[in-house]
Amino acid sequence: MLNSSRLSSKSSISRPNWLRRLVSLVAIASLTCTLTIASAQAVPIGDLLFQGVQIMQFSNLSQRDEVQLAAQMHDNLLSKGTRLSTDFAINRYVTDIGQRLVPSSRRSGLPFNFFVVQDKSVNAFATMGGYVYVTTGLLKAADNEAQVASVISHEMGHIEKRHLIAQIKQSMITRGLVSTILGNNSALANIGVDLAFNRPRGREDEFQADREGLRILRDSNYAVSAMPAFMRKLLRPRGNGPTFLSTHPAIPDRVKALDSAIKSGPTNRCDANPRLSTCGLDDVAYQSTVKQRIAI
Ligand SMILES: [Zn+2]
Repeated sequence: MLNSSRLSSKSSISRPNWLRRLVSLVAIASLTCTLTIASAQAVPIGDLLFQGVQIMQFSNLSQRDEVQLAAQMHDNLLSKGTRLSTDFAINRYVTDIGQRLVPSSRRSGLPFNFFVVQDKSVNAFATMGGYVYVTTGLLKAADNEAQVASVISHEMGHIEKRHLIAQIKQSMITRGLVSTILGNNSALANIGVDLAFNRPRGREDEFQADREGLRILRDSNYAVSAMPAFMRKLLRPRGNGPTFLSTHPAIPDRVKALDSAIKSGPTNRCDANPRLSTCGLDDVAYQSTVKQRIAI
Protein backbone atom coordinates (compact mmCIF):
# COMPACT_ATOMS: atom_id res chain seq x y z
CA MET A 1 0.00 0.00 0.00
CA LEU A 2 1.21 3.49 -0.75
CA ASN A 3 1.01 5.72 2.29
CA SER A 4 1.19 9.43 2.94
CA SER A 5 4.56 9.33 4.75
CA ARG A 6 6.17 7.90 1.65
CA LEU A 7 4.57 10.59 -0.45
CA SER A 8 5.50 13.45 1.84
CA SER A 9 9.18 12.71 1.15
CA LYS A 10 8.57 14.10 -2.34
CA SER A 11 8.72 17.67 -1.06
CA SER A 12 12.36 17.23 -0.02
CA ILE A 13 13.49 15.78 -3.33
CA SER A 14 16.00 18.03 -5.12
CA ARG A 15 15.02 19.26 -8.59
CA PRO A 16 17.52 17.30 -10.74
CA ASN A 17 16.45 14.01 -9.23
CA TRP A 18 12.83 14.94 -8.77
CA LEU A 19 11.44 13.45 -11.94
CA ARG A 20 13.45 10.25 -11.59
CA ARG A 21 12.25 9.81 -8.01
CA LEU A 22 8.69 10.47 -9.08
CA VAL A 23 8.97 7.83 -11.79
CA SER A 24 10.18 5.39 -9.12
CA LEU A 25 7.24 6.31 -6.94
CA VAL A 26 4.90 5.74 -9.85
CA ALA A 27 6.40 2.32 -10.46
CA ILE A 28 6.10 1.39 -6.78
CA ALA A 29 2.58 2.71 -6.71
CA SER A 30 1.46 0.80 -9.77
CA LEU A 31 2.87 -2.40 -8.34
CA THR A 32 1.62 -2.13 -4.82
CA CYS A 33 -1.24 0.29 -4.64
CA THR A 34 -4.70 -0.84 -3.69
CA LEU A 35 -7.91 1.14 -3.56
CA THR A 36 -6.91 2.41 -0.15
CA ILE A 37 -4.55 5.09 -1.39
CA ALA A 38 -3.95 7.87 1.13
CA SER A 39 -4.30 11.44 -0.07
CA ALA A 40 -1.08 13.16 -1.07
CA GLN A 41 0.61 15.94 0.93
CA ALA A 42 2.97 17.27 -1.70
CA VAL A 43 3.95 20.34 -3.68
CA PRO A 44 1.16 21.41 -6.05
CA ILE A 45 2.79 20.03 -9.21
CA GLY A 46 3.46 16.80 -7.35
CA ASP A 47 -0.17 16.70 -6.32
CA LEU A 48 -1.30 17.05 -9.88
CA LEU A 49 1.03 14.37 -11.15
CA PHE A 50 0.11 12.08 -8.31
CA GLN A 51 -3.57 12.58 -9.04
CA GLY A 52 -2.79 11.59 -12.63
CA VAL A 53 -1.16 8.43 -11.31
CA GLN A 54 -4.17 7.71 -9.11
CA ILE A 55 -6.52 8.16 -12.05
CA MET A 56 -4.42 5.80 -14.14
CA GLN A 57 -4.49 3.25 -11.36
CA PHE A 58 -8.25 3.57 -11.04
CA SER A 59 -8.63 3.06 -14.79
CA ASN A 60 -6.58 -0.12 -14.48
CA LEU A 61 -8.45 -1.36 -11.44
CA SER A 62 -7.60 -5.01 -10.75
CA GLN A 63 -10.43 -7.51 -11.10
CA ARG A 64 -10.25 -8.15 -7.35
CA ASP A 65 -10.65 -4.45 -6.53
CA GLU A 66 -13.40 -4.09 -9.14
CA VAL A 67 -15.40 -6.93 -7.58
CA GLN A 68 -14.81 -5.53 -4.09
CA LEU A 69 -16.05 -2.10 -5.14
CA ALA A 70 -19.08 -3.67 -6.85
CA ALA A 71 -19.94 -5.48 -3.61
CA GLN A 72 -19.72 -2.18 -1.75
CA MET A 73 -22.03 -0.54 -4.28
CA HIS A 74 -24.45 -3.42 -3.83
CA ASP A 75 -24.49 -2.85 -0.04
CA ASN A 76 -24.89 0.85 -0.68
CA LEU A 77 -27.91 0.24 -2.95
CA LEU A 78 -29.56 -1.93 -0.32
CA SER A 79 -28.87 0.54 2.47
CA LYS A 80 -30.51 3.27 0.37
CA GLY A 81 -33.73 1.29 0.20
CA THR A 82 -33.43 -0.76 -2.99
CA ARG A 83 -35.44 -3.93 -2.35
CA LEU A 84 -34.53 -7.24 -3.90
CA SER A 85 -37.18 -9.76 -4.86
CA THR A 86 -37.44 -12.61 -2.40
CA ASP A 87 -39.20 -14.90 -4.89
CA PHE A 88 -36.84 -17.86 -5.16
CA ALA A 89 -38.23 -19.07 -8.50
CA ILE A 90 -37.91 -15.64 -10.15
CA ASN A 91 -34.36 -15.19 -8.84
CA ARG A 92 -33.45 -18.68 -10.02
CA TYR A 93 -34.96 -17.98 -13.44
CA VAL A 94 -32.98 -14.74 -13.96
CA THR A 95 -29.75 -16.28 -12.63
CA ASP A 96 -30.15 -19.24 -15.01
CA ILE A 97 -30.53 -16.86 -17.97
CA GLY A 98 -27.47 -14.93 -16.80
CA GLN A 99 -25.38 -18.06 -16.34
CA ARG A 100 -26.33 -19.26 -19.83
CA LEU A 101 -24.91 -15.95 -21.16
CA VAL A 102 -21.72 -15.82 -19.05
CA PRO A 103 -19.57 -18.26 -21.10
CA SER A 104 -20.02 -15.97 -24.12
CA SER A 105 -18.83 -12.89 -22.24
CA ARG A 106 -15.34 -11.63 -22.94
CA ARG A 107 -14.97 -11.39 -19.16
CA SER A 108 -16.42 -14.79 -18.32
CA GLY A 109 -13.94 -15.12 -15.43
CA LEU A 110 -15.82 -12.48 -13.42
CA PRO A 111 -18.00 -13.82 -10.61
CA PHE A 112 -21.26 -12.67 -12.24
CA ASN A 113 -24.25 -12.02 -9.98
CA PHE A 114 -27.75 -11.37 -11.27
CA PHE A 115 -30.25 -9.60 -9.02
CA VAL A 116 -33.98 -8.95 -9.32
CA VAL A 117 -35.00 -5.57 -7.90
CA GLN A 118 -38.55 -5.37 -6.58
CA ASP A 119 -39.62 -2.26 -8.45
CA LYS A 120 -42.45 -1.61 -10.87
CA SER A 121 -40.38 0.68 -13.08
CA VAL A 122 -39.10 -0.95 -16.25
CA ASN A 123 -35.34 -0.80 -15.79
CA ALA A 124 -32.06 -2.67 -15.73
CA PHE A 125 -28.56 -1.57 -14.85
CA ALA A 126 -25.10 -2.89 -14.16
CA THR A 127 -22.32 -1.58 -11.98
CA MET A 128 -19.04 -3.46 -12.42
CA GLY A 129 -17.34 -6.68 -11.39
CA GLY A 130 -20.23 -8.79 -12.74
CA TYR A 131 -23.13 -7.18 -10.82
CA VAL A 132 -26.27 -6.98 -12.99
CA TYR A 133 -29.76 -5.87 -11.92
CA VAL A 134 -33.20 -6.14 -13.57
CA THR A 135 -36.45 -4.89 -12.09
CA THR A 136 -39.61 -6.91 -11.63
CA GLY A 137 -41.25 -4.20 -13.79
CA LEU A 138 -38.96 -5.13 -16.63
CA LEU A 139 -39.69 -8.84 -16.21
CA LYS A 140 -43.38 -8.00 -16.33
CA ALA A 141 -42.97 -5.90 -19.48
CA ALA A 142 -41.01 -8.52 -21.43
CA ASP A 143 -42.82 -11.00 -23.68
CA ASN A 144 -40.40 -13.86 -23.36
CA GLU A 145 -37.08 -15.17 -22.02
CA ALA A 146 -35.06 -14.00 -25.05
CA GLN A 147 -36.14 -10.39 -24.42
CA VAL A 148 -35.00 -10.63 -20.78
CA ALA A 149 -31.75 -12.24 -21.97
CA SER A 150 -31.23 -9.36 -24.43
CA VAL A 151 -31.39 -6.82 -21.61
CA ILE A 152 -29.06 -8.84 -19.38
CA SER A 153 -26.56 -9.33 -22.20
CA HIS A 154 -26.62 -5.58 -22.90
CA GLU A 155 -25.82 -4.89 -19.23
CA MET A 156 -23.03 -7.47 -19.39
CA GLY A 157 -21.71 -5.48 -22.36
CA HIS A 158 -21.41 -2.40 -20.10
CA ILE A 159 -19.42 -4.49 -17.60
CA GLU A 160 -17.19 -5.95 -20.32
CA LYS A 161 -16.33 -2.49 -21.53
CA ARG A 162 -15.86 -1.16 -17.98
CA HIS A 163 -18.15 1.77 -18.74
CA LEU A 164 -18.97 2.65 -15.14
CA ILE A 165 -15.29 2.74 -14.19
CA ALA A 166 -14.70 5.24 -16.99
CA GLN A 167 -17.75 7.26 -15.89
CA ILE A 168 -16.57 7.39 -12.28
CA LYS A 169 -13.14 8.48 -13.42
CA GLN A 170 -14.63 11.24 -15.57
CA SER A 171 -16.90 12.34 -12.75
CA MET A 172 -13.97 12.60 -10.33
CA ILE A 173 -11.96 14.69 -12.77
CA THR A 174 -14.90 16.96 -13.60
CA ARG A 175 -15.70 17.50 -9.95
CA GLY A 176 -12.05 17.90 -8.92
CA LEU A 177 -12.41 15.14 -6.37
CA VAL A 178 -9.56 12.85 -7.31
CA SER A 179 -7.45 12.98 -4.15
CA THR A 180 -10.40 13.26 -1.79
CA ILE A 181 -12.38 10.38 -3.30
CA LEU A 182 -9.75 7.86 -4.30
CA GLY A 183 -8.89 5.80 -1.26
CA ASN A 184 -12.39 6.29 0.09
CA ASN A 185 -14.28 3.22 -1.10
CA SER A 186 -17.51 4.38 0.46
CA ALA A 187 -17.43 7.69 -1.45
CA LEU A 188 -16.49 5.84 -4.65
CA ALA A 189 -19.41 3.48 -4.14
CA ASN A 190 -21.76 6.45 -3.68
CA ILE A 191 -20.67 8.02 -6.95
CA GLY A 192 -20.86 4.68 -8.75
CA VAL A 193 -24.37 3.91 -7.54
CA ASP A 194 -25.60 7.36 -8.50
CA LEU A 195 -24.09 7.06 -11.99
CA ALA A 196 -25.27 3.49 -12.58
CA PHE A 197 -28.76 3.89 -11.19
CA ASN A 198 -29.79 7.44 -12.01
CA ARG A 199 -27.72 8.89 -14.81
CA PRO A 200 -28.07 8.16 -18.50
CA ARG A 201 -25.17 6.40 -20.10
CA GLY A 202 -23.36 8.06 -22.97
CA ARG A 203 -24.72 7.38 -26.44
CA GLU A 204 -21.55 5.62 -27.58
CA ASP A 205 -21.52 3.44 -24.47
CA GLU A 206 -25.05 2.33 -25.35
CA PHE A 207 -24.14 1.40 -28.91
CA GLN A 208 -21.08 -0.46 -27.65
CA ALA A 209 -23.08 -2.37 -25.01
CA ASP A 210 -25.64 -3.27 -27.70
CA ARG A 211 -22.94 -4.68 -29.98
CA GLU A 212 -21.42 -6.72 -27.15
CA GLY A 213 -24.84 -7.77 -25.91
CA LEU A 214 -25.94 -8.88 -29.37
CA ARG A 215 -22.80 -10.99 -29.72
CA ILE A 216 -23.34 -12.57 -26.29
CA LEU A 217 -26.98 -13.27 -27.12
CA ARG A 218 -26.10 -14.82 -30.48
CA ASP A 219 -23.26 -16.95 -29.10
CA SER A 220 -25.59 -18.19 -26.35
CA ASN A 221 -28.08 -19.36 -29.00
CA TYR A 222 -30.92 -17.06 -28.09
CA ALA A 223 -33.02 -15.44 -30.83
CA VAL A 224 -31.18 -12.16 -31.50
CA SER A 225 -34.33 -10.55 -32.93
CA ALA A 226 -35.52 -10.28 -29.31
CA MET A 227 -33.16 -7.36 -28.63
CA PRO A 228 -34.62 -4.82 -31.10
CA ALA A 229 -38.10 -6.32 -30.56
CA PHE A 230 -38.04 -5.47 -26.85
CA MET A 231 -36.74 -1.97 -27.52
CA ARG A 232 -39.52 -1.39 -30.06
CA LYS A 233 -42.01 -2.53 -27.47
CA LEU A 234 -40.66 -0.08 -24.89
CA LEU A 235 -40.92 2.78 -27.38
CA ARG A 236 -44.66 2.32 -27.74
CA PRO A 237 -46.49 5.13 -25.90
CA ARG A 238 -47.50 4.15 -22.37
CA GLY A 239 -47.90 6.49 -19.43
CA ASN A 240 -44.68 8.31 -18.53
CA GLY A 241 -42.56 5.78 -20.38
CA PRO A 242 -40.23 3.24 -18.81
CA THR A 243 -37.21 4.40 -16.81
CA PHE A 244 -35.17 2.22 -19.16
CA LEU A 245 -35.68 4.81 -21.91
CA SER A 246 -34.17 7.62 -19.85
CA THR A 247 -31.24 5.63 -18.48
CA HIS A 248 -30.55 3.98 -21.85
CA PRO A 249 -30.82 6.81 -24.39
CA ALA A 250 -30.92 6.86 -28.21
CA ILE A 251 -33.17 3.83 -28.52
CA PRO A 252 -34.63 4.56 -32.01
CA ASP A 253 -31.13 4.82 -33.48
CA ARG A 254 -30.02 1.76 -31.57
CA VAL A 255 -32.92 -0.26 -32.99
CA LYS A 256 -31.83 0.71 -36.50
CA ALA A 257 -28.21 -0.24 -35.77
CA LEU A 258 -29.30 -3.57 -34.29
CA ASP A 259 -31.54 -4.40 -37.26
CA SER A 260 -28.66 -3.71 -39.60
CA ALA A 261 -26.16 -5.71 -37.49
CA ILE A 262 -28.54 -8.68 -37.35
CA LYS A 263 -29.16 -8.55 -41.10
CA SER A 264 -25.51 -8.46 -42.04
CA GLY A 265 -23.94 -10.31 -39.10
CA PRO A 266 -23.29 -13.95 -38.28
CA THR A 267 -26.19 -16.26 -37.54
CA ASN A 268 -26.81 -18.85 -34.85
CA ARG A 269 -28.88 -21.98 -34.38
CA CYS A 270 -32.07 -19.96 -33.86
CA ASP A 271 -31.89 -18.36 -37.31
CA ALA A 272 -31.93 -21.76 -38.97
CA ASN A 273 -34.33 -23.39 -36.55
CA PRO A 274 -36.19 -20.91 -34.30
CA ARG A 275 -37.41 -23.40 -31.73
CA LEU A 276 -39.59 -21.53 -29.28
CA SER A 277 -38.30 -23.06 -26.08
CA THR A 278 -34.52 -23.20 -26.64
CA CYS A 279 -34.37 -19.82 -28.40
CA GLY A 280 -36.31 -18.12 -25.60
CA LEU A 281 -39.32 -17.25 -27.77
CA ASP A 282 -42.03 -19.15 -25.95
CA ASP A 283 -44.34 -16.30 -24.88
CA VAL A 284 -46.91 -18.63 -23.35
CA ALA A 285 -44.39 -20.44 -21.14
CA TYR A 286 -42.93 -17.09 -20.03
CA GLN A 287 -46.38 -15.82 -19.17
CA SER A 288 -47.13 -18.80 -16.94
CA THR A 289 -43.72 -19.30 -15.30
CA VAL A 290 -42.66 -15.69 -14.79
CA LYS A 291 -45.19 -12.95 -15.46
CA GLN A 292 -47.97 -14.53 -13.44
CA ARG A 293 -45.68 -14.82 -10.41
CA ILE A 294 -44.75 -11.16 -10.36
CA ALA A 295 -46.78 -8.93 -8.12
CA ILE A 296 -45.75 -5.31 -8.55
ZN1 LIG B 1 -27.13 0.50 -21.38
